Amino acid sequence: MLALLQDPVAFATLATLLGLFVGSFLNVVIHRLPKMMERDWHAQAAELRGEDAPAGERFNLATPRSRCPHCGHQIGALENIPVVSYVLLRGRCRHCGAGISKRYPIVEAFTALLSGYAAWHFGFGAAAAGALLFIWAMVALAFIDLDTQLLPDDITLPLLWLGLAFNLAGTYTELSSAVVGAMAGYLALWSVFWLFKLATGKEGMGYGDFKLLGAIGAWLGWQVLPLTILLSSLVGAVVGIGLIVFARHGRNVPIPFGPYLAAAGVIALFWGETLTTRYLGLL
Ligand SMILES: [Zn+2]
Repeated sequence: MLALLQDPVAFATLATLLGLFVGSFLNVVIHRLPKMMERDWHAQAAELRGEDAPAGERFNLATPRSRCPHCGHQIGALENIPVVSYVLLRGRCRHCGAGISKRYPIVEAFTALLSGYAAWHFGFGAAAAGALLFIWAMVALAFIDLDTQLLPDDITLPLLWLGLAFNLAGTYTELSSAVVGAMAGYLALWSVFWLFKLATGKEGMGYGDFKLLGAIGAWLGWQVLPLTILLSSLVGAVVGIGLIVFARHGRNVPIPFGPYLAAAGVIALFWGETLTTRYLGLL
């Protein structure tokens, strides 16, 4: 088994397969975590008002089983095979024929490809294991932010601690760079937020963005932060201008920054050091 894992092609193939199933689970997280948070807030608000918490069916990442949102048909194991089921069912519910969102197979395939590449890039070991966790968190955060403009603390905060933990052994950067990275990442966007707010009276981003950049700093060190900010702003600006010009997206409708930060974080994970030393002349 160990010999198999140490073979780069076999390891990348296994990671791709694992990524397919994790991608399927991430679809559940993306869909349910914001709803779970909302239920929590309602329960807390009710408690503050001195009322009983609103009763409801149990709702978490494991229960209830996934159902077709159209007809309520419970999705069986065979209909839940990542990507494969979507193709075999031709993107329709087996029971009522309602269309299934393309988002599901896209998230699964995308997670699988990134996971396979991470295994290939880092090779069997702690760095690959950490990279997989980092990537899965980034995929979940990017899509949750896209849907709800939220970056849940339930993901960003454990991610930050985990990054520091991996760097206790210097997996991606020295521990001191990781600690400075966590602080500088948070403070950099916190400062931008306040400067922007003082200058324009508007809030350009949320606290989740600070925590996410802090987490990226904890994983990859402060050295990659300029690159991460630069990449996410560039892509964000291009997409944002495109949306305003072509999709007539209102200029005052907030465009979430989290997906760009997450994408820049993944790029920095793989090529941060090379890009930083070669093109930014840092380090
Ligand atoms: Zn259905």
